[in-house]
Amino acid sequence: MSTESGAKLLGRARRLTVKVGSSLLLPERNRLDAAWLDSLVADLAALGAQGREIVVVTSGAIAFGRGVLGLRDGTLRLEEKQAAAAVGQIGLAQAWQASLARHGLQAAQILLTLDDTENRRRYLNGRATLEALIRLRVVPVVNENDTVATTEIRFGDNDRLSARVAVMASCNVLVLLSDVDGLYTGDPRRDPEAVHVPVVNAMTPMIQAMAGGSGSAVGTGGMITKLAAAEIATGAGCAVVLASGRGHHPLRRLQDGERCTLFKARATPRRARKDWLAGRLDAMGTLVLDDGAVRALLRGGSLLPAGVRRVEGSFGKGDAVLLQAPDGRVIAKGLCSYDAADAVLIAGCRTEDIETRLGYRGRNELVHRDDLVLL
Ligand code: GLU
Repeated sequence: MSTESGAKLLGRARRLTVKVGSSLLLPERNRLDAAWLDSLVADLAALGAQGREIVVVTSGAIAFGRGVLGLRDGTLRLEEKQAAAAVGQIGLAQAWQASLARHGLQAAQILLTLDDTENRRRYLNGRATLEALIRLRVVPVVNENDTVATTEIRFGDNDRLSARVAVMASCNVLVLLSDVDGLYTGDPRRDPEAVHVPVVNAMTPMIQAMAGGSGSAVGTGGMITKLAAAEIATGAGCAVVLASGRGHHPLRRLQDGERCTLFKARATPRRARKDWLAGRLDAMGTLVLDDGAVRALLRGGSLLPAGVRRVEGSFGKGDAVLLQAPDGRVIAKGLCSYDAADAVLIAGCRTEDIETRLGYRGRNELVHRDDLVLL
């Protein structure tokens, strides 16, 4: 059953993100396994030849740089990791570029921080760049920008980064290649009774518990961040395959039916967008509404300037804002069609007066109902 699902899913992949873990690329400490990489890239090229579009998220910069610099074993300090990443990223990107070129594909390097996927404008910018590259038949090779990301704004793991990238690039499949062939009911290294889980339909507490519990600091083989990635991606309409990358041609083997865990996508794109709005985007300001506007929103309508009593915060056009009822309850979140300064100018005004107040003709809605989610 599991075997079929993974193969079928790759068959349905229109655009896919493939995430590669450090331990696959650098199995022997600090030495990149170019032969393995080449076998994976051959699989990617085969998928590309079938008309599928590909995005790569690759780890390995820190491990690679550590080897180049001859840094000691054990835990590195943050600045040492950042230095190692700065050195290693060059070699990592070069290895991908060389291998993709051998298969007739052009590589592009993209380095992202958490901010780039959370800030609406940067997110849209990143998305447009990814889209442009894919249209130009270039394979984006993405990693976290480890050198500039500080602890507070780091993903720290490429599992979640890959999920954000998959969503950003509107992929319908994310393949997480690591050293485990899927999710188990327990830690297979310690629990002989642990059973492989072929399909996950929903991220229930029971599933979370299999990864070592949501509160646990250390997951079973990094399973917690993989589940977090699956949660982000599946919620955005992107199915996830967790598969082993050990051995050559991991994607071909997956297509041939090798064991994996499939996390089903659980949303339509519209629902997904609303989920994204609700959960993943920081609100930059608040619009305080009147009762009429609250009623309109609850009926599924848009927010017009006339229903806004007060504007708080400093936000740009397209940023997320909270929508607050007169009694202080936050009832919704949405993307504002105007920046804070313009929102202040048109708050409370009738739609036909927008142009006179601003000097240009903008949207009628301050927050359109498609860009809004009730909380
Ligand atoms: N961005 C890190 C690197 O390239 C890896 C993070 C991870 O292993 O998930 O070294």
